[in-house]
Amino acid sequence: MNKLIIISGPSGVGKGTIVNELLKKGDYALSISCTTRPPRSGESEGVSYFFISKHEFHSMIKQGGFLEYDKHFGNLYGTPKDFVEKQLQTKNVILEIEVNGALNAKKSYPQALLLMILPPSLEELKARLNHRGTESPKKIKKRMERIEYELSQRDKYDYTVINDDLQRAVDEIEEIIKNS
Ligand code: ADP
Ligand code: 5GP
Repeated sequence: MNKLIIISGPSGVGKGTIVNELLKKGDYALSISCTTRPPRSGESEGVSYFFISKHEFHSMIKQGGFLEYDKHFGNLYGTPKDFVEKQLQTKNVILEIEVNGALNAKKSYPQALLLMILPPSLEELKARLNHRGTESPKKIKKRMERIEYELSQRDKYDYTVINDDLQRAVDEIEEIIKNS
């Protein structure tokens, strides 16, 4: 039976990098979320997100079409149930979502495996965010402020994995998935 794997962790911890490594193995599919926010440059429909209107989003909520959904920065984001269930027929499915969405998804799909990725230290996390260079210093400060909350939820996760060495962390995650 294929598994639903939910990966969370603070911004910059390496979730995207880890997920890319898992996707290379071929046994995993990535869930694509729906959002009401407009695409950023370089983002395309059905790859980054399914970009839908508020009206469409609300009718999907009414139809019970989301495994979970939440509002961030004034926009709605949700995990489409149909898409995930279809992918699960052939592969393990990975959801890379923030803590609140992850815990809600676990409520509607209790067999999901909740994994939280942790940094080796807060200094290293800040260094990775700076090194990635996608956020302004102000945004980095805001993201660091949210980290305390995210880390406080770690006991609700099935497993935590420290992303110290990338390959070691990916191997540990694969081992957890295999044995769960
Ligand atoms: P997230 O998706 O959690 O926000 P990213 O995958 O974008 O994080 O990673 C943030 C930065 O950290 C990237 O520049 C990435 O190359 C780097 N990184 C990821 N994993 C490691 C690691 N194990 N050691 C050092 N740098 C890493
Ligand atoms: P962004 O607009 O930067 O792509 O994403 C903003 C926030 O929305 C991030 O914290 C991201 O994790 C979250 N997000 C993306 N997709 C989903 C989803 O399907 N469900 C929930 N709950 N949050 C999501």
